[in-house]
Amino acid sequence: MRQQTIKKDIKCFGVGLHGGGKVCLHMRPAEEDTGVVFVHKGSNGSRVLKLSPYLVTSTELATTIGYKDISISTVEHLLAAVAGLGIDNLCIEVHGNELPIMDGSAASFIFLLRSAGLRRQRLPRRILNFARPVLYKKGQRWIRVEPYNGLKIKYTIDFKHPMVGRQSFVFEHDPQQFIRSLAKARTFGFLKDVEKLQALGLALGGSLNNAVVLDDYGIVNPDGLRFSDELVRHKVLDFMGDMTLMGATLWGSFEVHCSGHSFNNAFLRFLDKNKDEYLRWMDFDMPGKKESVPMPERVLRPEPVWT
Ligand SMILES: [Zn+2]
Repeated sequence: MRQQTIKKDIKCFGVGLHGGGKVCLHMRPAEEDTGVVFVHKGSNGSRVLKLSPYLVTSTELATTIGYKDISISTVEHLLAAVAGLGIDNLCIEVHGNELPIMDGSAASFIFLLRSAGLRRQRLPRRILNFARPVLYKKGQRWIRVEPYNGLKIKYTIDFKHPMVGRQSFVFEHDPQQFIRSLAKARTFGFLKDVEKLQALGLALGGSLNNAVVLDDYGIVNPDGLRFSDELVRHKVLDFMGDMTLMGATLWGSFEVHCSGHSFNNAFLRFLDKNKDEYLRWMDFDMPGKKESVPMPERVLRPEPVWT
């Protein structure tokens, strides 16, 4: 249960979902206890963003993080790949305001990270576990968590669409299982929403090459789906990516019903506010362990009001 980073730098270029332009991503190994940090490279130099629930500035289309005048969009698929492989420390440099969408899944990020190789570090992992069960519910959406030594997610979606309807998927995390059953599941959208967004100048990089698109009757993509339940698998992937914004690995048995980026983030903020009641650090008895690790520091920006 020791921390991991990557062995060497790795770089890629791709298209941004929002702007449709070419964006560059550069990942570097990071020291123990650094966590996952984004480095925004802009005209005003480099700015470092350390993961926190309060870093999320928008959940429209994708999860966007930011601070003051900088923002980075569509972070969730790369963060899911990082969590899926069990990487604790990583420096993610972004030249531009969004990550490349790649094929709309986490598969390309998994390929890149595995090409760089993983390196075990000396200190034990920093894992937050649940001290007691929690239910976070608003209307028809809810997240229920039971304490559990590992990460298990049962996710249910319910879309009024002939090709989707109600679907559930249960995922018990281990890196190989992540690669096999979640990494390739692509993001999805409804044709009428895509048309509206593109008329507004959004989702300009969105195409059938990086999303599953549904019209009123079925799947528009000529090659169909990668899994018959690809959509719910992708929601599990998104959920894992969004949970990494806690700033430490979360373990628990999660039951998630009809959530999305916005609700995922509202749940993390709720957890953060009540962390002393619900969360505790896992205690790994390992040589070189630090005596006591403080709860992650959070407040990076004034907290917006969530409804
Ligand atoms: Zn997604």
